[in-house]
Amino acid sequence: MNLSLSGRVALITGASSGFGAHFARLFVSEGARVVIGARRVEKVAALAGELGDAALAVALDVTDEASVIAAYDAAEARFGTVDTVVANAGIAKAGRSTELPAADIAAVVETNFTGLYLTAREGAKRMIAAGFRDSERGRIVLLGSITAESTGGGETAYAAIKAGVAHLGRQFAREWVRQGINVNTVQPGYIDTEIQGDWFETPAGQAHVNSFHRRRLTPITALDAPVVFLASDASRHVTGATLTIDDGQVL
Ligand code: NDP
Repeated sequence: MNLSLSGRVALITGASSGFGAHFARLFVSEGARVVIGARRVEKVAALAGELGDAALAVALDVTDEASVIAAYDAAEARFGTVDTVVANAGIAKAGRSTELPAADIAAVVETNFTGLYLTAREGAKRMIAAGFRDSERGRIVLLGSITAESTGGGETAYAAIKAGVAHLGRQFAREWVRQGINVNTVQPGYIDTEIQGDWFETPAGQAHVNSFHRRRLTPITALDAPVVFLASDASRHVTGATLTIDDGQVL
């Protein structure tokens, strides 16, 4: 069983905060070299400074195809072909379906679906060109959400797109199954990061936590072992899977 990420080159989108920054630190501690991208380039640059030679910061807007291609070009120039992609960048736009502005719907689709699609597609193209069919080294992890599995007020567009992400993962997995690329989706439960704003500090947010069966938020570290596994050689036979990590929140 080889869970080490030693020798891997990982591109992580949305690495200026939350999960992405956490995964960058985790992957480097597990032996990978990481290319970390986000729009707030000063934040990824500071993180790269902390991580040293194993990290490269890039300015990245996942909704812009040219920006995605440029990020992979920079990654390849510095570390060689990216063999591990964590398509993590995402935004949330809350609001009742009857009131959500068209611009917010479009932003959620562009970032959480199109952005993730472009990120995975560019990575896969390069893995195919580099002959991963033989090495079976390709790993792509998509960030879905448990909102794909439940219904609730206030996040309809976000939740529906995350359901689309899970199926996109299966579609990609099928398409690239003979190209040595595994594609899997992780569906985290509610974890306190910037995307949640100050929700969990509010009385309604506290009531939300108390509605979970275990009356607690899932810690970010709950994602560590599953994501490292999906990025590692140990997951060679796992593709097209959707893995929910939510401490039972959605049960
Ligand atoms: P954060 O808000 O902390 O992080 C989101 C990241 O996405 C930021 O680094 C942001 O960077 C980046 N981002 C947003 N838009 C773009 C863009 N157009 N191009 C590049 N980067 C972009 O939230 P999380 O870490 O919690 O979220 C990470 C992922 O996890 C998201 O896909 C989210 O939907 C998902 N998720 C989160 C859950 C939670 O409870 N926290 C639960 C389930 C899923 P910048 O603004 O600098 O570009």
